[in-house]
Amino acid sequence: MLHSRSTLVPIFTVLTFLTAQTASAHEGMWVPTLLKAIEGDMRTEGLQISAEDIYSINNGSLKDAVALFGSGCTADVVSTQGLILTNHHCGRSSIQNNSTLEHNYLRDGFMAATLADELPNAGLSVTFMVRIEDVSQRINALLNSGMGEEERYAVAKREGAAIIAEALEGNKFDAVVRPFNYGNSWFLIVSETFRDIRLVAAPPEGIGEFGGNADNWMWPRQTGDFSVFRIYASPENLPAEYAAENKPFTPRRSIAIDMGGAQAGEFAMIYGFPGTTQYYIPSYGVEQVMSMSDPLRIAMRGASLNVITAAMNADAATKIQYYSKRGSIANGWKKWQGELQGLTALGTVAKKQAEEAEFLRRATGMPEYAGILPRLEKLYAEQAPYAQARDLFSEFIYNGAYLPRFAAGFSKLIEGRDTISKAVAEAEVKRLRASASAFFKNYNATVDHDVFAAQLPLVLEYQSSLLATPALQAVQTKFNGNAQRYADDLFARSVFTDSLKLFRLLDHYSKKSAKKMAQDPAYQLGNSASTTYTDKIRPRYNAISDSLDAALRTWSKGLITLFPEKTWWPDANLTLRVSYGKVEGTFPQDGLAYLPFTTLDGVMAKYVPNDPEFNVPQKLIDLYNAKDYGPYATDGEMRTCFLSSLHTTGGNSGSPVFNGKGELIGINFDRTWESTMSDIQFDPAICRNISVDIKYVLFVIDKFLGGKRLVDEMELVGMDGEKVDGADGAPHVIELPLHR
Ligand code: ASP
Repeated sequence: MLHSRSTLVPIFTVLTFLTAQTASAHEGMWVPTLLKAIEGDMRTEGLQISAEDIYSINNGSLKDAVALFGSGCTADVVSTQGLILTNHHCGRSSIQNNSTLEHNYLRDGFMAATLADELPNAGLSVTFMVRIEDVSQRINALLNSGMGEEERYAVAKREGAAIIAEALEGNKFDAVVRPFNYGNSWFLIVSETFRDIRLVAAPPEGIGEFGGNADNWMWPRQTGDFSVFRIYASPENLPAEYAAENKPFTPRRSIAIDMGGAQAGEFAMIYGFPGTTQYYIPSYGVEQVMSMSDPLRIAMRGASLNVITAAMNADAATKIQYYSKRGSIANGWKKWQGELQGLTALGTVAKKQAEEAEFLRRATGMPEYAGILPRLEKLYAEQAPYAQARDLFSEFIYNGAYLPRFAAGFSKLIEGRDTISKAVAEAEVKRLRASASAFFKNYNATVDHDVFAAQLPLVLEYQSSLLATPALQAVQTKFNGNAQRYADDLFARSVFTDSLKLFRLLDHYSKKSAKKMAQDPAYQLGNSASTTYTDKIRPRYNAISDSLDAALRTWSKGLITLFPEKTWWPDANLTLRVSYGKVEGTFPQDGLAYLPFTTLDGVMAKYVPNDPEFNVPQKLIDLYNAKDYGPYATDGEMRTCFLSSLHTTGGNSGSPVFNGKGELIGINFDRTWESTMSDIQFDPAICRNISVDIKYVLFVIDKFLGGKRLVDEMELVGMDGEKVDGADGAPHVIELPLHR
């Protein structure tokens, strides 16, 4: 049956639609080998393929077309020649690395005219799952509650090594055994990694990053957040390092594309590599996130972002240098603000406390759970100062100014100056020369100084006296507490800001030059911060975390056992998962409705000429004015993004969103503002993920970038625009013609 597609939707119908749908949103990120348990429910919701079509080790299944992209995103195989789609923000650093002022692919976009024009990316990899197997029985049989964490870990590691050795017999795959649910269960994961991954196409930032930071984590959204890569393999179709003779990879399975367009209310499913969730943490853990870690990270990133954004807007070369770094800093900065609001709005702490009280009631007479809550409370309290110091180190030394960390990297030459052999010193000089060359390519001493100076007062405020970086005492002792003067002096005197001087020192490396470097203020600070971290912060943090993991293992087992009426799924850990729900909008706040689709009209409404976030490329404006959408329009409109009720997190970026037939309808890239707390608590009525509509992706590739050759590689289905949706293929009428 055809859907009615009138654009005039009575408001009553909209409301009914939205409220009716919220009941069907699903919490949970499911391990695909365990789908049999929920297959029935998925089919009732509209899945038309079988669990075996989603995950199979014997036949090519959808899992063979979904891969881990780099170390934190997902990619979707869309052709028999190894073509993959992911997000623009996942491909961002590769696009940046291939960009120069003359060939600025970030600003202008990129389309390889032929295979020979596809651009290699050193260090980029794509990993497929060959097999996932629950090995809990085998490992848990060797563990008992009398074991300490270290012993437990050693036994699990030994048995894991045996399991891995068996799994790798007679093949060249990789394998790991990973704990799930704090070590209540264990999974063997066999994988295959490809390392010759080439950039094929990317939209310009006016499409791929449209809306920038202002629109990130927001709906309505119109970002064409995609990029295109290709996997290359050896002539035998096996993983190989980059080589000119490598060929496009022939995958076991590629994904067909639904040209009918996503339909409001239809079944949707996402398959990908969600990174981290903290579903099981008790109220003390949530309190720690809300009172300590989110505020600290937001403050530190806010300080650096102001500096970086202003510098990027003022200068095109700086913009290329900082593109990726700014993107990832801003992403966390904004998300944690939403998370705080969301957790407050949901009353998560109070909800967890109520759950904890009920836990105690249900656990009466069960000695294994006696004392677990006070133990968790104590451990979180003990961990707090170390967790804070760790966050501070990470935001200041890893995500803040580059200089102290870069300088600290020279410690082997500097600290070892009296003992190091000539040969080792020479090898180290060579290594450092190479890494310094790469470093200076993206180094801008002025911006770095300003980031450092902006963050330093916060570091001084947040650091606790016991875990403080000793070198920072100089702010008081030498500069009378004036952080700005300390920063100015450090950058003015450090040799590590100046490539010429640094290379000269390296070229004439001697005990004497090492002694000079040892006095360098940036080295002293970097070294002092890292030593404090490795000697004082990390060991204690890790030891408490081990105890916390042990307690959380008991706690999560208790929750699963004592609350059988609830849905339980293992926390995300960057392993392959499936979530399902529907294409649907929501009422995220009192008086506010999110409709499920956006269109190019929204792009034009937000267009601000030459704005860093809302500029639109002229060619897109022309295509819009001419309504030149080719076969990619839906109901005469060019849709850009859509919402669905799929439980996702970071790492799901780039994941394929499928309809009930297992055809691609979109590429996931974000969540709405009101969903940013879903790593801790998922609210089915409100949480929605955001995908770029696959037809918009094809439109941009074909009509905007001139890449018809890529579309021709793909399998397009449902060109007539008619769709039938429902269990077992039975027609299911979606009465509400909500299309935006
Ligand atoms: N936009 C997100 C990210 O990159 C994806 C998500 O967390 O939903 O982290």
